Formats: sequence, structure tokens, C-alpha cells
Amino acid sequence: MTERSPVLSVRGLSVRFLMPGGRRVAAVTDAHFDVAAGECLALIGESGCGKSVLASALLGLLPGNAETAGEAVLGGLDLLSADERTLARTVRGRLVGLVPQSPAAHLTPVRTVRSQLEETVAALTGVRGRAGVRSAARAAAARAAFPPDHLDRHPHELSGGLAQRAATALALVGDAPLLLADEPTTGLDRDLVDHTVDELRRHIDHPGGPGTAERALLMITHDLAAAERIADRIAVMYAGRIVELADAEAFFGSPGPRHPYSRGLLQALPDRAFIPIPGLPPELGDLPDGCAFAARCDRADDTCAVLPPAADGVACHHPVPGTGEEARQGTSEDVRA
Ligand code: SF4
Repeated sequence: MTERSPVLSVRGLSVRFLMPGGRRVAAVTDAHFDVAAGECLALIGESGCGKSVLASALLGLLPGNAETAGEAVLGGLDLLSADERTLARTVRGRLVGLVPQSPAAHLTPVRTVRSQLEETVAALTGVRGRAGVRSAARAAAARAAFPPDHLDRHPHELSGGLAQRAATALALVGDAPLLLADEPTTGLDRDLVDHTVDELRRHIDHPGGPGTAERALLMITHDLAAAERIADRIAVMYAGRIVELADAEAFFGSPGPRHPYSRGLLQALPDRAFIPIPGLPPELGDLPDGCAFAARCDRADDTCAVLPPAADGVACHHPVPGTGEEARQGTSEDVRA
């Protein structure tokens, strides 16, 4: 799947925030990854690791004190160097469909779902005329499995699941080649999490019927169960850097993650070892010169004072060679090997 030409190609993406007093916060550093048509890449990591900043960079929604470097090419356009007019007219909604973190906040509270869908259809598609727009809005709702008899409801009259579907329907209207889902399962119970990610998966597996272009999905999440359920590949972010990029099956199964931080994330899950990673992530404004995970890592030695290069999908001087079965059972021999 990853051999297909990428829909999104990110190379050396970095984001720095310039703070009062000249301080710089390294929110994202040197991110490299592709997302192919028909593929879901899940970008995972703890809160504050930089993954939502990366999403904002792709959408041109960073605050004014942000500086970016590198490139993120989508549809022949570098999203990082595009001007605001291009981002507003070409990127948001048309090249990138955003499935938001909080659908209730994303939807306009005083307008019905139908009216918001019709407005988006009129803005993003070539459909004209009242009947055509109405029909296209109904079709968009159906694609997200939003029930037609709820179209005239306001957001506050919807359950969490239906609000999520309404937001997904809006994200799908422009038929964007990339869906960007930013923490789409936050605040949902487990059944709804499964349902939401299954629906997202459906939109890349069966984008819109025969003849429609394939979509790619970049899902940003701290929910590893959701990532395991939906992703083809996993990118793990720590302190602003992608420290591991792996096939999801190998990552969650065998041989398991190879970066000690990734291994720690899995071992912290209640249905695995339930052992938290000791310590806290470093401040993004005060990162060490070497590996940012060193203070929490039981494999650290003197070599880790030098920044580890990314090799074979993992940025670590001493990657874990263990097996998935050991990781599932939470044994630590492999970590110390
Ligand atoms: S480079 Fe060193 S400190 Fe960093 S994760 Fe690897 S072993 Fe641990």
C-alpha cells in the first residue's frame, strides 16, 4: 500500500514558536512521512507532543508567532508555503477535509445540520440551484450515515455520535483527497469510538463509489486502541519528533514497537502490562541536545547524548529487538536486552 504514490508527502516539517524574550519552542522538528491513497496513517503520542501543531501546520492554521520549515506537498501544492487565500480557497475543505476534535464546537449551534450542509455544498462544489444543493446535502449526510430525519435538527439536539457524523459529512462534502481527523474519538465511549473509526475507515476503503478518487486518512490521536483498529501505519511522536514509523500490524502485534518510548506507550495500556512510562516529557522550549527520551529510558547510555538518526523507521541508538508476544505480556527482558 505504501508503494502507491503519496497523496500527502511531508519532508522536514518543523514548527517553531517565537515567544516573548526571544525564546523558541520547538513544537515539531524534521517530520518526514507520506500518506498514500487508500491508506490510514495514525500519528500517535502523548498530549503536547506536537501532533496537533503538525495538523494545524498542514491546514495553515498556526498562530502568527509560528515559523515553519520543510514542505508538505498535497495535490502539487506545498501547504507550508501557500498563502492564506490559496489555503482558504483551495486547501481547507477541497484538498483537506477536517474531521474535528470536538464536533459540537465545530458545528454552528444556531443552524440546522441541513442548512450547514447546504451552505458547504454551495461553497465547495459546483452544484447550483436549490434542488441540486438540497439533494447534494442529503447525499453528503448519507455518506456519513447521518439519518435524513435528523437533518432539520440543531447541533444541541444531536447525540455525540450523530454530531460526529454531521461533522464527518461536512468534511466529506468537498471530496478532498486527504481526510485529516484530529483526535476524532475524544470524549466518546468505547462503542462510539469503534463506530467512529470504522466509519472513517469506510471513507478511505470505499470513498464514494466507482469512478471516485481514492482518499488518504491522517488520524491524529492519543487513543492507541482506535489507532490499532483503523491504521495501516503508525507514526509515533515524542517531544516534537517522529521517533518511529511502522506498519500497524507489526507495531501492535509482532515484532512490536522498536523505539523504547513506543514500547512504553503500549505497555502502559490497561489491557497490556499497565505499567506507566516513568517521568514526564521534556519542555518543548528546553529540549536536550541528544535524545529527548533519555531521562525516561531504561536503555539510555552515553551515546544517547547525541541525537539518534532515524534508521529503518526508528530514531534510537538502541532500538528494542523484542517480540510482540513479550510486549503484549508486559515482560521487560526484551527492553533490557
Ligand atoms: S536513543 Fe537512547 S535514550 Fe533515546 S530512546 Fe534510544 S536508547 Fe533510549
